[in-house]
Amino acid sequence: MQGIKGLYRIGYGPSSSHTIAPFRIASLYRHKHPGCDEYSILLGGSLALTAKGHGTLKIIEKALECDRICFDYDLNTKENIMNITGTRSGIQYDTWHAFSLGGGAIKIDEYDAGDLNEVYEANCFEDIKKQISDDPKSLLNYIYSHEPDLKHYLIDCLNVMFETVDRGLNTEGLINEELKYYRIAKKLYEKATDRKDYLVAYSYAACEENADGGMMCTAPTLGACGILTSLMYYLHFNELYSDEDLCDLLAVAGIFGNCIKKNASIAGSEGGCQAEVGTACSMAAAAIAYKEGYGLKTIEYAAEMGIEHFLGLTCDPVLGYVIIPCIERNAISILRAYDCAYLAEQLKNVKDNLISFDSVVNAMNYTGNKLARELKETSLGGLASEFKNEKS
Ligand code: SF4
Repeated sequence: MQGIKGLYRIGYGPSSSHTIAPFRIASLYRHKHPGCDEYSILLGGSLALTAKGHGTLKIIEKALECDRICFDYDLNTKENIMNITGTRSGIQYDTWHAFSLGGGAIKIDEYDAGDLNEVYEANCFEDIKKQISDDPKSLLNYIYSHEPDLKHYLIDCLNVMFETVDRGLNTEGLINEELKYYRIAKKLYEKATDRKDYLVAYSYAACEENADGGMMCTAPTLGACGILTSLMYYLHFNELYSDEDLCDLLAVAGIFGNCIKKNASIAGSEGGCQAEVGTACSMAAAAIAYKEGYGLKTIEYAAEMGIEHFLGLTCDPVLGYVIIPCIERNAISILRAYDCAYLAEQLKNVKDNLISFDSVVNAMNYTGNKLARELKETSLGGLASEFKNEKS
């Protein structure tokens, strides 16, 4: 498996696949081929179908700082391709054939961006369990022995998460003209009195910032950024957890997210929303179970449950914006993550879990492959088409 760092990437919203990845591809190209005065870019798959709503064109313009960019689209390919060719004083440079893989990860045929490096020899959670004891701390030791500088990296991620929520709680106004979506995080926060209220307000703060193109941290994607971000913010500012402790929670969450990334997908364009919000719910449930001091079995059970009840969840963002159903769905998911941790501990006292974490990940992969293309971040079906029908 690849490193956990790949699940927590810092970049501009609103979509890790559609803004962070294209920004990285364009920036790397510009770095390798400086001084271009013209570019042609071919976008394919979901990158083409939701380019406007997901802010792909704007973010590429921002990375290239050039007003002569010719965009072309391939609506038939399934892969999220981004081919880029630069020209300088009439001389054309080589074309890069690049791919957005989900969560901001990229693959470029002509350049090694380093995203595909393997860090763990394990390929699934069963493999990991063979190398650790029943003590959850041994899971953490296992992670840090493979990624010794992870904590240092996660501190930066935490700071971005905190800044994101702070901005979100202190900003009001219209985010999206077409949907008439106004920010509500500040109002929610002012009325908050208990844990659920605060988590919802923080989740909205993060997701609204994301929808507005703010600087974010994926966890494991930007569509699902509100779930772990709200958890981290709540635990730090309401329950006074230290940065160190929160890094441990992100690491535990990360190993489960990594298993999903390896054996299913964390990209809505590949697996539907179960791959984004389902994965984040699973990661948060594992982190909550760990912080509660539950045993390894309960942590695995909570992570499994976080996916199981999101299986089949479709990705059909209205008008291609990461707003409806995304923002509300993040809030639901962080509440559910607490329920999963609670229920896993309750149930494990009376029964064994009959579905392993690895099995539910395989089921997610199977289900994602069966989902219609219209329901995988293309905005061609489901809520997206219902909304269009209603308006027409
Ligand atoms: S519906 Fe889910 S997967 Fe699709 S863009 Fe929204 S959060 Fe991401």
